Parts: sequence; structure tokens; C-alpha cells
Amino acid sequence: MKNGIHPKYHTEGIVCTTCGTHWKIGSTRPNMRVEICSNCHPFYTGEQRIVDTAGQVDRFMRRLSAAQDRQATIEKQRNARNEPAPKKSLLKEIYGDEA
Ligand SMILES: [Zn+2]
Repeated sequence: MKNGIHPKYHTEGIVCTTCGTHWKIGSTRPNMRVEICSNCHPFYTGEQRIVDTAGQVDRFMRRLSAAQDRQATIEKQRNARNEPAPKKSLLKEIYGDEA
């Protein structure tokens, strides 16, 4: 083996940040981390759940709550002014609520 041309070989492996499993794999990259592995992925565990490592569900719930608050405020202002509720959409006028 020629000296000085080969990258350093790291043997610390890969760590899953979700379940903490340590996978013994050699690589030229140090400290590799993955968000999900076969030990905790719903496909392999057979368990139905949402894997939310990036906080997407929390973000969606915050946006949903903000939208509902905004809707309630608009409804309250409309009731204060005694305005009728907005007309139904044209589709609902034609087909009714069952459409
Ligand atoms: Zn895992």
C-alpha cells in the first residue's frame, strides 16, 4: 500500500438518532448518523406510527391551531356586526350538502 494517498478508515460505525442503535460499519467518513434505520423504521417493525424527526407534525398542528383561531376571530367579528354567514359555494347550492 502506497503511503500518503489513502484516506483514514474509521471503524466507529453509524448511530441511529431515533432509536440509538449502533451499527458497526467501517467508512472513510467519521461520526455518521442516520435519522432512521431498519431497527426502528415502521416498514420493518410492522408498527403503524408517524416518524417525525424534523418536527413536521408539530409544525402542522401549530399552523392548524392558528388557522382555527383566525377562523373563530372572523366568526366572532361577523356575529358582532350581525352579518349573515357567507353564501354557500355554487356547487353546494346546486348539489346540496351531499355532493
Ligand atoms: Zn433506528
